[in-house]
Amino acid sequence: MQEFRGLGLGAGSGGAPGGGGNRWRMRELAQNEHFDWAIFRRALRAFVPYWPYTIIVTVVILAASFGGVIPAWLTQRIIDEGIQKHRMSIIVEYTLTLILISIGTGLLGVLQTWLSNLIAQNVMADYRIALFRHLQRQTVGFFASRQAGDLVSRVTNDVTAIQSVVTTTLVGFVSNLLNIAATLFLMFSMDWRLAVLAVIVVPGFVIPTQRVGKSRQKLQGHIQNYLSKMTVQLSESLGVSGALLIRIFNRQGAEEKEFAESNHTLRDLQVKQALIGRWLFMWLNMFSSIGPALLWMYGGWLVLQNEIGLGVIVAFTALLSRLYGPLSQLAQLHVSILSSVALFRRIFSIMDEVPEVQDGKESIPDNSVEGRLRLEKVSFSYRSGSEKPSEPQAIRWALQDIELTIEPGETVALVGPSGAGKTTLLNLIPRFSDPASGHLYVDGMDTRSLTLHALRAQMGLVPQDPFFFHDTVASNLRLAKESATAEEMEAACRAAQIHDTINSLPEGYDTIVGERGYRLSGGERQRLAIARVLLQGPKIVLLDEATSALDTVIERKIQDALAVLLEGRTALVIAHRLSTILKADKIVVMANGRIAAIGTHAELVQRDPLYKELYETQFHIEGEMQQVEEKP
Ligand code: ADP
Ligand code: MG
Repeated sequence: MQEFRGLGLGAGSGGAPGGGGNRWRMRELAQNEHFDWAIFRRALRAFVPYWPYTIIVTVVILAASFGGVIPAWLTQRIIDEGIQKHRMSIIVEYTLTLILISIGTGLLGVLQTWLSNLIAQNVMADYRIALFRHLQRQTVGFFASRQAGDLVSRVTNDVTAIQSVVTTTLVGFVSNLLNIAATLFLMFSMDWRLAVLAVIVVPGFVIPTQRVGKSRQKLQGHIQNYLSKMTVQLSESLGVSGALLIRIFNRQGAEEKEFAESNHTLRDLQVKQALIGRWLFMWLNMFSSIGPALLWMYGGWLVLQNEIGLGVIVAFTALLSRLYGPLSQLAQLHVSILSSVALFRRIFSIMDEVPEVQDGKESIPDNSVEGRLRLEKVSFSYRSGSEKPSEPQAIRWALQDIELTIEPGETVALVGPSGAGKTTLLNLIPRFSDPASGHLYVDGMDTRSLTLHALRAQMGLVPQDPFFFHDTVASNLRLAKESATAEEMEAACRAAQIHDTINSLPEGYDTIVGERGYRLSGGERQRLAIARVLLQGPKIVLLDEATSALDTVIERKIQDALAVLLEGRTALVIAHRLSTILKADKIVVMANGRIAAIGTHAELVQRDPLYKELYETQFHIEGEMQQVEEKP
């Protein structure tokens, strides 16, 4: 016991890894996990749809448990009734039964494995689908504040661990319990005195196993954390952007070191975890030899007194392993139940994230929207994750008291210094977030009352750096309109001045673009994104112009594409180019989250010093370039 405690248990408390001050925020997970009924019950709920399988499995296990103890009983009959009484017919009869029973229990074992895997895989698939669905309902901000790798790890690693919850934990629990019951039943019906002797040794198993449970389970939490951490590092450093960052700052060595460190910690933790189980096993083994010794001693005396036959002792020694095996497994189950609670806690913590933007009820009939936008006293602040409720900070408003009306068909240009709140304002319109106060209206309908689907169907978005999935040009275009024909796509692309470029790609519209596909230039991506919105054909267009300077040919193409895009639509444009500003019906100047001025270019240059400064520093130079180009 001394040795056992010294080597096995010390590790659990002392081995908590601190995490080397890197960019991963380790979650305090399973640090002090205790059995949580609420989580366990909630986890079990996922199994409810599969109750018929569960019942069959239970019946199979029940049959297998009885099939498992019958050989011991047959052995006793063979010795006491057959061998001792010299009756060969009994020996033959019982040995043949023995063979049949072992075939039967073998078949039951196969059935049990099949059914329990069926249940586990079904529940796993359900959880993955539910998690994915839930994540689809989260706002963009949710993903901005989380590591994709960590989420991926929860949907994959954590859910995969459900397999062991079912096959070892649940099935193990039922089958061990039934095995013990069947064994005890047979033991007590053969000889109660020997049965009591066999049971006396039991606490020797249960107590140490329970103690090991806690530290093993704590380790499981750490292991899961490190697995997640590794997934995060892998997905960040193996992605294009991460790979670029690492190379430009010569961080390969440091990344390798970090990866190696977490791998080494993981290795140590897993060895430790395996050893804790092993020390326990050694102790149990030692203890389980005490049982038979006592049995032979006391049983031998009983045989000499002619109280029992020799077969009873032989049967009992066989039954002992069927008692202690399941008992020690049952005691260890405590451990796996606790670690599965930790796992489910991780899964449920994602499930419990309430989407920040709740869906509205009303839908809008197709093509019925005129496109009037109105923002009424809109204020917004980003919630910072590190904010502690105990120390209320002054709220940093990203937007404050925004009042703005855009009439159908109007183009409004948003200008202002970086950080003024332009992107934030744009993102409120399709309800990527909701304002802290104030209201947004489309055609006089409060956007919160509409379904997100209906609302977003009315508006197209061209972000500053458009994203394309790793798929063909055509599939990326069809995101906007699933039923789009080749002709429609071509028309949209012609209007967006991108058709010729696509045609010159190796496989035209079937060329794979996106993350690892054909790289489109910045200007091409914008025009492809414009084509996508044209294909969608919404009444309202939200546009975040790219800041990068373009050469005059591309500039002209983008201007032409934009002219088509903005024609007859309500448009809110974060403008970075003079040409866009000059075409706008009105210009909204933003500063520090507020609207500083509204007017036309001519008016604002005259009376607004901030606009004048912006114009002179940002737009003017570009304007001169254009004039130079236009002269010849
Ligand atoms: P603009 O587009 O005008 O450059 P933004 O709307 O992007 O400005 O940002 C407005 C303010 O909100 C800035 O102070 C910025 O730091 C802050 N901000 C933007 N995005 C976030 C975010 N995801 N979390 C917290 N603060 C943010
Ligand atoms: Mg911006």
